[in-house]
Amino acid sequence: MRIGFGYDVHRLVEGRPLILGGIEVPHDTGLDGHSDADVLLHAIIDAMLGAAALGDIGSHFPDTDPQWLDADSSLLLAEVAQRVEKAGYRVANIDATVALQRPKLRPFIDPMRRSIAQTLGVELGQVSVKATTTERLGFVGQEAGAAASAVCLIVPL
Ligand code: MG
Repeated sequence: MRIGFGYDVHRLVEGRPLILGGIEVPHDTGLDGHSDADVLLHAIIDAMLGAAALGDIGSHFPDTDPQWLDADSSLLLAEVAQRVEKAGYRVANIDATVALQRPKLRPFIDPMRRSIAQTLGVELGQVSVKATTTERLGFVGQEAGAAASAVCLIVPL
């Protein structure tokens, strides 16, 4: 078995939807980026790619490529699952943490887990998502952005 780690950060801005873990979370700001800026899925993608030593999200989906402009990151996640499978592995489990000051994510955690599990074709029990604030400290605490970390274990097919 092999383990991978992923980390991502995106800025919060007005006029963008807040997309996290493949679902839209109602809020007055959203994450800014070339794709839908789903910071949680990006961290998970990097964890999966890292586990298989397949590079990172930027090497697979360059932000200079108009194909990925405002792209649904769930599609990128599904594509990465295929590339990991092509390398001879399947996802055993994922554990991720989103750092966001507002809004409270508790009601959205299970919908995110369901969305991620469905995209990857794995059981709900293989996907863990957690959320934390940063006690108003730093860029997350000041609501300038969101961060996410993830680990992923993969096993041979
Ligand atoms: Mg990103």
